[in-house]
Amino acid sequence: MTDWTGFSLLEKLVGFPSVVGRSNLHLMDFVASYLADLGVPCHRLTGPEGDRQNLFATIGDPAVPGYILSGHVDVVPADEPEWLGDPFVLRCEGARLIGRGACDMKGFDAAVLAAVPDLLAMDLAAPIHIALSYDEEAGCKGVPHLIAALPELCATPLGCIVGEPTGLHPVLAHKGKAALHLTAKGIPGHSARPDLGQNAIHALLPVLTATAEQAAALQKGPQDARFQPPYSTVQIGTIDGGRALNIIPEHAQARIEARAIAGQDPRALLRPVLDSLGPDVQAEWLSTYPPLALAPGADLAQLAQQISGHPAAPAVSFGTEAGLFQQAGIPSVLCGPGDMARAHKPEEYLLRDELEAARQMVLRLGRSLSAGAGPVPQETLRSV
Ligand SMILES: [Zn+2]
Repeated sequence: MTDWTGFSLLEKLVGFPSVVGRSNLHLMDFVASYLADLGVPCHRLTGPEGDRQNLFATIGDPAVPGYILSGHVDVVPADEPEWLGDPFVLRCEGARLIGRGACDMKGFDAAVLAAVPDLLAMDLAAPIHIALSYDEEAGCKGVPHLIAALPELCATPLGCIVGEPTGLHPVLAHKGKAALHLTAKGIPGHSARPDLGQNAIHALLPVLTATAEQAAALQKGPQDARFQPPYSTVQIGTIDGGRALNIIPEHAQARIEARAIAGQDPRALLRPVLDSLGPDVQAEWLSTYPPLALAPGADLAQLAQQISGHPAAPAVSFGTEAGLFQQAGIPSVLCGPGDMARAHKPEEYLLRDELEAARQMVLRLGRSLSAGAGPVPQETLRSV
């Protein structure tokens, strides 16, 4: 059997070009066989797309409430010309491990998988679950299928740690998001006779105005100082339509998103936009995920600080799957290696030390849950 390390696992995972929206079966084949070699069975949950899967595995007794370590295995495309090497071949330059997904977030995935042999030796009183998802980068499309299956897979977990890059600081909150795709249909014709056609761009205008008005209104709405800006927002992200100046536009479309502070429903923020739709405009929901908000005094917040060795950071601006786990009744926190500022960019990297620090965090979680000696947090003992 190969002796896998965090490094060699990351190298292997980066080598699968598991770009969002494409099949991840080869990657999941590898993870499943890695776990099987260690004697850990896993559930492979195929999504409705048919060619991509979530994976769920448990170390310990699944009938006892435990903790989920959650990561996505999809990555954003790596088409940027600034890559200095093949983005799907991990390159080492000094302390840097460079490759697409090294930071967001195959580094965490590799750290978790690398910890499995040690976790198995720990006689865990509460289990650790590994949850790997697909198409997170398409607006958390994959993980809802895994979350829906959890009641059949394990006792309701005590908490979930989503290992998105936070510098290994527990992050307790992020905004939620909802997005709409609007399409307007008109009747084309010569622009000299607009009276004979129907202008699709004009049909969108009430929606765009309603969006701008809602954006202004939200600035005076509920405030939460943990976020930048401290209020919920909406904005028009794209708009296009029309073919030429002298043709009445037949098609127009716009995409609008809302970002909600904790306590607000991102879809509800777009209600005034939907209310302004005319008969010629169709609306379709794109990605939606709820805000994350974990109380600083929550058991999971304490545990995450203890095992990461870092104080909690209040909030981040990016969204994650943690909001969906929380919505399913599982307290959730973000805590993973690396810096999101390096993600979604050419030459994305994770530092070797960051990879090892993440593995150590997972081992501390294991020790805190092990039946024998070790610092078991009181709150965990109670809930187990
Ligand atoms: Zn990510």
